Amino acid sequence: MIRGSTELVAIVGSPIAQVKSPDNFNTWFTNNNRNLAMLPIDMQHASLEAFAGSLRGWRNLRGCVVTVPYKQALASQLDGLSERAAALGSVNVIRRDADGRLLGDNVDGAGFLGAARKHGFLAAGKRALVIGCGGVGSAIAYALGEAGASHVTLSDPSTERAAALCELLDNTFPNLEVATQYDSLEGFDLLVNASPVGMGDTGELPLPATLLETLQSSTLVADVVTSPEITPLLGQARQRGCAVQTGPEMAFAQLGHLGAFMGVTPLEI
Ligand code: NAD
Repeated sequence: MIRGSTELVAIVGSPIAQVKSPDNFNTWFTNNNRNLAMLPIDMQHASLEAFAGSLRGWRNLRGCVVTVPYKQALASQLDGLSERAAALGSVNVIRRDADGRLLGDNVDGAGFLGAARKHGFLAAGKRALVIGCGGVGSAIAYALGEAGASHVTLSDPSTERAAALCELLDNTFPNLEVATQYDSLEGFDLLVNASPVGMGDTGELPLPATLLETLQSSTLVADVVTSPEITPLLGQARQRGCAVQTGPEMAFAQLGHLGAFMGVTPLEI
């Protein structure tokens, strides 16, 4: 029940009907007797600047989750950014402080590593292959650097994107070895598909099938794609005896990070 006294959080994107955050947050608020609710907002791009202005003046709003396609566009509209959000140039959560200031963070990478910890993966000293260097791949690679990974290999058909991320990681994490070439999956502790390849019923793999023959059962294989839950990559990894981490696991692990940044849930939920 939304009452006059209910405090709000929002999630903004376009389209918005497919997002799971309102179900997850509103269930948590109800189960934990919080007088809070999450609203989904399908906003047109032309109204984003006015939207940021409205958030500043919206007194019973604690914050707003940001999803595709506005993670980059809204980052430039805010009053302050966390170090990682500034480095990545993108936000997936905004907190509205009591004085109306809007602060942004990007917890995609923290959520991913939170889910990976549940599989016993601790990034310090580990070697990872990140396939896809867009918004989510960059956030995951950055989080691996923050957590002390020793090697990150990047792959993206857009050589500019891979090179830009490589430069960011090189400049930010001097002890991290960054590569953009690989010809075998041997030796990786983590392989993550952070591209949309595998989404829907296409049956596509984000890397050549022949390379999967070099995948070792000790590698944790993760996918950010949420539907299907078991992507073709995860299905093949399972057949090879690997532990797998799904997109919904990453999404769920983010809830506490998003809620804690907005001040509406604890970090661990
Ligand atoms: P994006 O468009 O910013 O980046 C996607 C990148 O993948 C691009 O750089 C593109 O060139 C690259 N790519 C395409 N085909 C490739 C291939 N075969 N090999 C390597 N790279 C390839 O998109 P994004 O915002 O980073 O989102 C990526 C995916 O992550 C989407 O499917 C999205 O739904 C999903 N996502 C999941 C979660 C979660 O919590 N599970 C959260 C956010 C986004």
